[in-house]
Amino acid sequence: MSEIKATAKVAVLTGEKKIEVRKLPVPEINDDEVLVKVEGCGICGTDVHEYKGDPFGYIPIQLGHEGTGTIVKLGKNVTADYSGKPLNVGDKIVTGLKPCGVCDTCKKDPEHIHLCDGGEIFGLLPGEEHFFNGWFGEYIKINAGGVIFNFQALGQIHRL
Ligand SMILES: [Zn+2]
Ligand SMILES: [Zn+2]
Repeated sequence: MSEIKATAKVAVLTGEKKIEVRKLPVPEINDDEVLVKVEGCGICGTDVHEYKGDPFGYIPIQLGHEGTGTIVKLGKNVTADYSGKPLNVGDKIVTGLKPCGVCDTCKKDPEHIHLCDGGEIFGLLPGEEHFFNGWFGEYIKINAGGVIFNFQALGQIHRL
């Protein structure tokens, strides 16, 4: 396991078609959060729309919401992924959204939280306070309540 860097690169969309790579201190995590070393990220059509014209008014934003990487630090309260599979440092994960927890879907239909009315998506959270909450960087911090899946659990998702 490589050591966690003190500073890491974050790709920030600072204007239309303008991405700045910044080097920032890697955030600490609390007991409910997870720090992941990014290993790859797709570029979604949504990323492209935002890059070309900021239709959502999100600038400045760190984009990238379809990534994968390895857990390098795990808050002590985070013991399992969304499907119940145990999580450990070294496990490879992907993210889902961070559901609102209060809409009808969240309350009554936890297997379909991707249909949540007010969920947040890592990589589509505007503002400096969310740098390191997107996948276009060296690390991503998964905030408390963020849905993550351990790779080995993917078979379980398909059975839902
Ligand atoms: Zn997407
Ligand atoms: Zn919801």
